[in-house]
Amino acid sequence: MFNDTTAEELSQVMEDAWEAFHVYRKLSLKQRADFMRSIAVEMENAGDELIQTAMQETNLPEARLRGERARTIFQLNSYAQFCESGQWLEARIDTAVADKVPAKPDLRKMLVPLGPVVVFGASNFPFAYSTAGGDTACAFAAGCPVIVKAHPAHAQTSELVAAAISRAAANCYLPKGIFAHVHGASSATGEALVKHHYTKAVGFTGSFAGGKQLFDWGNQRKEPIPVFAEMGSVNPVFLLPEKISVSAVDTAKQYALSITQGVGQFCTNPGVIIGIDNNDLDQFIETLAAEINNIAPAAMLHPGIYKSYVEKRAAVISQPDVAMIAVSATDAGLNEGTPTIASTTATAFLANPMLQQEVFGPYSIVVRCADMKEMMAVALQLEGQLTSTLMATENDMLQYEPLLEAVKNLCGRLIMNGIPTGVEVCLSMQHGGPFPATTDSRFTSVGADGIKRFARPVAFQNWSDSFLPDELKNSNPLGIWRTVNNELTKEKIG
Ligand code: NAP
Repeated sequence: MFNDTTAEELSQVMEDAWEAFHVYRKLSLKQRADFMRSIAVEMENAGDELIQTAMQETNLPEARLRGERARTIFQLNSYAQFCESGQWLEARIDTAVADKVPAKPDLRKMLVPLGPVVVFGASNFPFAYSTAGGDTACAFAAGCPVIVKAHPAHAQTSELVAAAISRAAANCYLPKGIFAHVHGASSATGEALVKHHYTKAVGFTGSFAGGKQLFDWGNQRKEPIPVFAEMGSVNPVFLLPEKISVSAVDTAKQYALSITQGVGQFCTNPGVIIGIDNNDLDQFIETLAAEINNIAPAAMLHPGIYKSYVEKRAAVISQPDVAMIAVSATDAGLNEGTPTIASTTATAFLANPMLQQEVFGPYSIVVRCADMKEMMAVALQLEGQLTSTLMATENDMLQYEPLLEAVKNLCGRLIMNGIPTGVEVCLSMQHGGPFPATTDSRFTSVGADGIKRFARPVAFQNWSDSFLPDELKNSNPLGIWRTVNNELTKEKIG
């Protein structure tokens, strides 16, 4: 539908981005925030056409897409506010001590933008994690131009959002290179973008294979760059004995909805549920099976994701010691993902890495452990995750403290007596986790702290006040929070 961006066009895009970087990085925090707010307004102005187009391209229902656009607008506005607050700059000032031996210099440090950022959006969030999504908003807040590689599964939606960003850039009189939108049906476009010498960072959400490839390219460059890839996760759920003895039915009902919400196409989908093999777990499984039976299949995002779901599900179910315990009673139509629950033993799960892999869709596997020792072995063997959930009473928490510690080491977000689906956009959110959930567990891709991914610290030593950035000047003209001689303050110096 769209022509691939040619090598010459791509080269021009990068030249423009580099030129724009040197203008944009000098703009004030307020000017960056105004740009982001303008994008939010233009996203709204894109009106029903945007929603209808996304519905056609993604099979997502209207209400979900309206909600997701509202979330994207909220993200842009709240990150803009945080950008303007200057809090994320981590401004530090240690004033000189002349009579110290040797004399202590005046040192002032803050974060500065990295340079042009390439963003690969996610197929499952056409707005919130795509063209004007979290990565783009964070990069603009940090002071970086953005080049988006449109996701081929929603290329027209991406075009409409890109047009909204371009209108906002024009409203704010920004140089044209501040934002670019490119298409490419082959991986060659992505490779050229990641390897281009003017690219200084990458944001990605999608498959492990895709994210790891971009990460490798980023690291193999003459000048390696950070590639922030958010990839797969099975989001383990640990059912602790006392909790499940008192709420097997409620927990199962809650999880049937979480596993099938959005046809299971969330990176936080609970893909592995671990319990102790006893009557309480049987009751949990029976209820879960009955609920799943009544949930109809629904169209998945695109034929590629559907195909991958069917293949991975079939591969897991055909493994030794894996039983199918529930499947939707309704036949699936074209590209529809069928809700499915499998089960296995902890011994089989521990011995077979395939059972630990993400099956992206409305699927989960229940792991039956002989005892808490086996549950602990599962927790210790699992790879890095975005989230882990403990369904536990206070007694469980006290009694199984080593398991709690093992789970803490596993993921970025620890949920107590809830479900992992649903990622709140706020400063305390952590959406990231140890590899392979992401390529850098120190950062988040949701919440305004994600801005820091696209910035680096610079220290100014003994600079005269008039040449310092406003953020570090004695008078604190921006009124931002700074750590001055180890105390957090908005006060001016001297
Ligand atoms: P994807 O295949 O990883 O694609 C995401 C983006 O990265 C697309 O723009 C894609 O462009 C690009 N890309 C992928 N591999 C590439 C490579 N080797 N070289 C250059 N560019 C590459 O993800 P998807 O299409 O959204 O979904 C596929 C699978 O990803 C799902 O079945 C699921 O397992 C997983 N997924 C995970 C999440 C998550 O939140 N972690 C979200 C959605 C999907 P091209 O297609 O043009 O190469």
